[in-house]
Amino acid sequence: SAPEKTDFIRQIVREDVASGKHQAIKTRFPPEPNGYLHIGHAKAICLDFGIAREFGGECNLRLDDTNPAKEDPEYVRAIQDDVRWLGFEWHDLRHASDYFEVLYRAGEKLIRQGDAFVCDLSADEVRAYRGTLTEPGRNSPYRDRSVEENLDLFRRMRAGEFPDGARTLRAKIDMASGNINLRDPALYRIKHVEHQNTGNEWPIYPMYDFAHSLSDAVEGITHSLCTLEFEDHRPLYDWCVDKVDLAHAPELVKPLTDKGLPFEASKPRQIEFSRLNFNYLVMSKRKLMALVQDNLVDGWDDPRMPTLQGIRRRGYTPSALRLMVDRVGISKQNSLLDISILEGALRDDLDAAAPRRMAVIDPLKLVITNLPAGHEESLTFANHPKDESAGVRTLPFSSELWIEREDFEEVPPKGFKRLIPGGEVRLRGAGIFRCDEVIKDGDKVVEIRGELDPESRPGMAGADRKIKGTIHWVSAKHAVKAEIRLYDRLFMVPDPDNDEGGKTYQDYLNPDSRRTVTGYVEPAAASATPEQSFQFERIGYFVADRRDHNSDAPVFNRSVTLRDTWAT
Ligand code: ATP
Ligand code: MG
Ligand code: MG
Repeated sequence: SAPEKTDFIRQIVREDVASGKHQAIKTRFPPEPNGYLHIGHAKAICLDFGIAREFGGECNLRLDDTNPAKEDPEYVRAIQDDVRWLGFEWHDLRHASDYFEVLYRAGEKLIRQGDAFVCDLSADEVRAYRGTLTEPGRNSPYRDRSVEENLDLFRRMRAGEFPDGARTLRAKIDMASGNINLRDPALYRIKHVEHQNTGNEWPIYPMYDFAHSLSDAVEGITHSLCTLEFEDHRPLYDWCVDKVDLAHAPELVKPLTDKGLPFEASKPRQIEFSRLNFNYLVMSKRKLMALVQDNLVDGWDDPRMPTLQGIRRRGYTPSALRLMVDRVGISKQNSLLDISILEGALRDDLDAAAPRRMAVIDPLKLVITNLPAGHEESLTFANHPKDESAGVRTLPFSSELWIEREDFEEVPPKGFKRLIPGGEVRLRGAGIFRCDEVIKDGDKVVEIRGELDPESRPGMAGADRKIKGTIHWVSAKHAVKAEIRLYDRLFMVPDPDNDEGGKTYQDYLNPDSRRTVTGYVEPAAASATPEQSFQFERIGYFVADRRDHNSDAPVFNRSVTLRDTWAT
């Protein structure tokens, strides 16, 4: 079994369980449904769901849908699909919008306590009043409105009486705070926008910090894990939880209990960790959106995209991603990781798990002249060289084969160990072949002819004769023609976000990030189900395309090369 993980977050959770602070652990994964999840989210998912699982707790999937303009049910579906694909299941599926009524009541409670006020300053004025890192801010002229006036205005905000941006509900904290987030932050804004979950019910929407902290508290979250950019928001998070104090405000959560939604007020603890970032990628939703909209890729699930839908289609496996997350670890140190960590995790995962198959991606005909024409036989091959439990398969062999064009050289470069005129090579698992004749059409080699050493067939003593090169092959008559998509990195440079000299990440696109060829695969590869992964011997790891593959017209995507061949 895997060694117990010892990162600082699990350490905290372990202590909280040991001390009896919590009887049970509860976490949540709170994506905003404004785009597809990406590789970075895999880290948060593995952490949020992983910790709940390891400590026998629960993890909710919460769609943080407080910003209606950019949200869409299409994303909501994809997010659920991605979480399940990664191997996790949520306890409850919630929307922050489930709590809009609770949050509204919490706003009224803060007003009654003198902890919030309705402010009429415009966005520009709010900015001007806010001060700077070195200068304290100034109080809003509306800060001392009476509770009655505030309640009246807030209710009218809710009733839809005011236009967008006319007023906000603000927390009354401290305009001189060293932490700008505490300078009377907005809790509610007016936005007459239809919401993907609540339709036109609400003309006002809660701000992130208010909604997030209270959603955590409502759901009984014990450990609220988020990325480092929220560290400075933690005092506001705690302020909201403490001031609203849901545990002692049953009237606030009545809308939930009336609907039968369980309610478990907690005092959640926010803990921040570093974001996952890789070189050679862009991961911000805005930039991924631009790649799709400008048709630089074929949609959100293009196998070159760092979205989970994209890398899934590329052939990344859930276990490879979990392995990557484990290797990267959890810390508070932001860094840009080398993409080889991601690719290496996939290689290691597939090396252990993927059955071996033979496929030829740049075919050259090879004819064995000393077998009777029409000769056919079945050879038995192990599915995996290091794993007997993976079993065996039969592979048709005949007198006409496809081999890889680059495995033959008429004028071999120094050190070339494969087939040359008059030379010998081992046909993997079939015997030793000698090239007697090279047939050309103009300059192009179109066929190799020669003899198979009859003493070198599998199981014979001569099979062990020392030969420098071994090449793969498929039987021309039996192999299935396949579309093979050779994917490579989408960007040519390690820092595509670098905008020096007026360049943008779009200037760094790799023109060779996808090459499509027609090859031949052995029957046991053609019959794969979509999303099945293989090592095509000597070529790389490939996956049967999730959308386009079928056994009559196979389509394979290169997931990753066998070794890191990226020119450095
Ligand atoms: P983006 O800036 O790409 O839109 P986001 O942080 O706004 O990302 P959310 O949908 O809010 O995206 O993210 C949901 C959860 O995933 C949050 O807890 C967030 O901290 C976490 N998360 C997002 N990106 C990363 C990342 N690169 N590494 C680790 N966690 C991440
Ligand atoms: Mg975002
Ligand atoms: Mg976000």
